[in-house]
Amino acid sequence: MNAQEGAVAMSAASSPYRLPGNVRPVHYGRDSVDEEFAYDAECCLLDLNIKTDLESLSFQGVVVVDLEVSEETSEIVFNAAEDIKLNAIVLHIQSQSLEKEDLQFGTDLDPQYERVTIRTRKPLLEGSKPQLTIVFGGKLSGSSLGYHSSSYQVNGTQKYCSVTQFEPTFARRAFPCWDEPAFKASYKITMVSREETVNISNMPVASETAYTSAQATGGYGIWSTLSSAFSYLTLRKGAEPQSDIKAFSLGDGRWKSTEFETSPVMSTYLVAFANGDFKVVEDSYTSPISGKVIPVRVYTTPDGEGQAEWSLNVSKTVMPLYEKVFDVEFPLPKLDTLVANDYHGAMENWGLIIGQPNVYLMDPNKPDFNTTQRIAEVQTHEIAHQWFGNIVTMSWWDNLWLNEGFATIMGALIILDNFLVKPEWNSSARFLISQTSDALALDSRRSSHPIQNPVDNPNEIKQLLDQLTYAKAASVLRMLSAYVGEEQFLKGVSLYLKKHLYGNSTANDLWDGIAEATGLDIRSLMDNWITRIGYPVVTVTEKESGVIHIRQDRFLVDGSPAPEENETLWNIPLSILTSDNTFERTITQRTLLNQRETDIKLDTTKPFKLNGGSTGVYRVRYSTERAQAIAKEAAKEGSIFKTEDRIGLVSDTLALAQASLSDTSSLLNVIELFKDDKENLGWTAMNDAITKLVNIFWEDEELSEGLRIFQQSLYAPIVERLGYDNQDDESVDVKGLRTLAIARAAAVGEPKVVKELLSRWKAYNEGDESAIPADILGATFRVAVEHGGRAEWETMKKIYESSASPATHLPAIGGMCSSKDPELIKEVIEYTKKPLRTQDFDSFWITLANNSFARRILIDYTYENFDAIFERFGRGFNTMRNIIESTFGKLTTEEDATKLEDFLKNKDTAGYNMAVAQTLELIRVNTKWRRNATEDVKGWLDERKMI
Ligand SMILES: [Zn+2]
Repeated sequence: MNAQEGAVAMSAASSPYRLPGNVRPVHYGRDSVDEEFAYDAECCLLDLNIKTDLESLSFQGVVVVDLEVSEETSEIVFNAAEDIKLNAIVLHIQSQSLEKEDLQFGTDLDPQYERVTIRTRKPLLEGSKPQLTIVFGGKLSGSSLGYHSSSYQVNGTQKYCSVTQFEPTFARRAFPCWDEPAFKASYKITMVSREETVNISNMPVASETAYTSAQATGGYGIWSTLSSAFSYLTLRKGAEPQSDIKAFSLGDGRWKSTEFETSPVMSTYLVAFANGDFKVVEDSYTSPISGKVIPVRVYTTPDGEGQAEWSLNVSKTVMPLYEKVFDVEFPLPKLDTLVANDYHGAMENWGLIIGQPNVYLMDPNKPDFNTTQRIAEVQTHEIAHQWFGNIVTMSWWDNLWLNEGFATIMGALIILDNFLVKPEWNSSARFLISQTSDALALDSRRSSHPIQNPVDNPNEIKQLLDQLTYAKAASVLRMLSAYVGEEQFLKGVSLYLKKHLYGNSTANDLWDGIAEATGLDIRSLMDNWITRIGYPVVTVTEKESGVIHIRQDRFLVDGSPAPEENETLWNIPLSILTSDNTFERTITQRTLLNQRETDIKLDTTKPFKLNGGSTGVYRVRYSTERAQAIAKEAAKEGSIFKTEDRIGLVSDTLALAQASLSDTSSLLNVIELFKDDKENLGWTAMNDAITKLVNIFWEDEELSEGLRIFQQSLYAPIVERLGYDNQDDESVDVKGLRTLAIARAAAVGEPKVVKELLSRWKAYNEGDESAIPADILGATFRVAVEHGGRAEWETMKKIYESSASPATHLPAIGGMCSSKDPELIKEVIEYTKKPLRTQDFDSFWITLANNSFARRILIDYTYENFDAIFERFGRGFNTMRNIIESTFGKLTTEEDATKLEDFLKNKDTAGYNMAVAQTLELIRVNTKWRRNATEDVKGWLDERKMI
């Protein structure tokens, strides 16, 4: 049994959410229809047909599916969600001599499990190949899931396009299908739309035919065939056409059919199509394997025109790199990317990536580093999936982490740092901040979950698309790559892909590929990292000279794992960083701790550190003296410790303080020691740590004030040194540090910085847009509103509403959410009730929740309006999760935890119960940390006369 059959066979028995594996789809569309069955001749011309009408925001469709029966059955079960209405269902079968009446069936719709069951009178025999035709239709959804609308403005008028988002379980909201990743099939898609619009899908256009409604009725073009098929199917069912999909007439105006080429076999969640007034930029790359020239394009709605050049550039640069790394040619004839406003992040649909403007568009006249970097990272991630995920696909969603972890490590690290043109971005250090820190923070809670987690229903599956699935998975793969060596790691990946081309797989298949490349037992090395919750802390005790004792225990952020929570023993690559006599940096990568404790020989008279380069997914706890000595050494210029080591030290010191395994003042000491750091990424890590500390004292006026003065003392000298304007010949790092220092100094009210930004704001408002460079637009907008009044807020709202560029959009949202005035804060909350772009709602809400003056107001509002909020977002993707985490996650009292817990007891939290558990635990962790740290931090600030 191969992995694919195994996964499907298991599914049938285990859960009502899973489809039985005895009837599988082979092909959606007409390619293999047997035309001798004249009574269904009309069906022979049907594909997966989608007719989109952007005026009525609705769609109609018909799909023909070729099936294969692997075990005798009288039932065909597939997925369809209540969002679509099924009209006529026709089953016909060629390889079995059944009379028509034998095939008459009953149909069960089960909205809870989103399944449809067709029952036949006589069983379908093993080996038979029935063909199913279904007419369906629905409204374009406003929820950014399934087949949905996305809006944009042209000269103040609202316009729409339509796009798909099917991962993980939303293809069934668009068309009836076998909506599980192991049911791979080929697709022949045809779209019908108004003539002036553009249709795009996974595959290139094969042909396009235009006609009027009258011509269609007169028998011209595919629509005529379609409409007669629709009426035929409807008649055959013996019922009147139902509800809102009865109108198969085209309506006024000119229409067209766009027929796409047939796709290779793929999973439903990767199918994509879109219709709208799209603009396009195009380029190409030459395959280093076959020499073929493959077009790459980026489509946008008209409001994004002219901003896609950098995305296009990244695409054409990265595609041939991946072909080389994987040694597998990109199998599709083109790669398109579409940018749509109402979209969650980005989605790797095969041959048609779709994403939101924030991660794809940049005004070429005002490039800023963060946007440049974000676009490169996201597109490199999505392109990694074109092989890893799309050609070889996880058998089931419990292996989603493998898919996302791999694309993340390629997009954020390996391709960016080693192959793309940007080594000076220092992705290795950035990865620690953007991935590993988050992973370690989340996975240190009891409410965490193993990254490979058994799941079956859509509510569980969609919650798996969380930071653990991305960040911990990526960090664990990075640890493996460091352990075996990156070249061997990639060789193993290539072997794995070649072995499972067009199939489905599990993590063990990847481990086997890497084992083949390295000769190491990767399965047993990796097992506990993926199947167990949490990760270890390694405690180092120095014995007699030349020997250290090391011990592993599970790390919990509340500091006290019970014995039954501390049973896992991980295989920990110790990566011991030492220096030889010439003070060269050496990392002993392959030493493993695979038992509870052991002794290791080490020259402790020279500087050393475990987890060298911070590539491991664990924390290290030294004695107070040793921790101080390492930090002092790391602060020296020319030390053997690099940026990554300093970032790791800050992160571990913070976590050990949170867990009360060390004093919180030791974190402040480390930051004080590192205050002459010249690197942006080192500062970013320190800033993240200080922000976490400041957040637990946000309702303690005295400590907030003391920490504010401490932060001013950190950032003011950097701004003084670097000034406000980037110079062309400066490194990315210097520019990044300038941006960070100005933003932080402004946020903690450093008077000189505030004054400078306010004067730049004034000039900007008087028409001099160059007064505020793109990199400090966000900081300046926030200062303007924070230190201004209604007039500045209204100006900011105007900027938000009139700007099409994401580079101005996000800063404007930041500005609107920065007021200290309760009235203006309430107005922002009211404002979020408008039908905002999907991506913008989250930005508004999260930014508002980060404003300590707005936090309590937002909490009260959320309690009072919870039902309405749930009504709006409950069926959506992960907006409820974001709301719960951002609104309540910074609270620091037991009363707040109890109140939230009681409040949610009677609510339907099925779609976001993980976020609820994580947030409640976080509030309690915050509470404990605040209590334990108050006197310590007060004493530290007092010594420095900061309170
Ligand atoms: Zn991904």
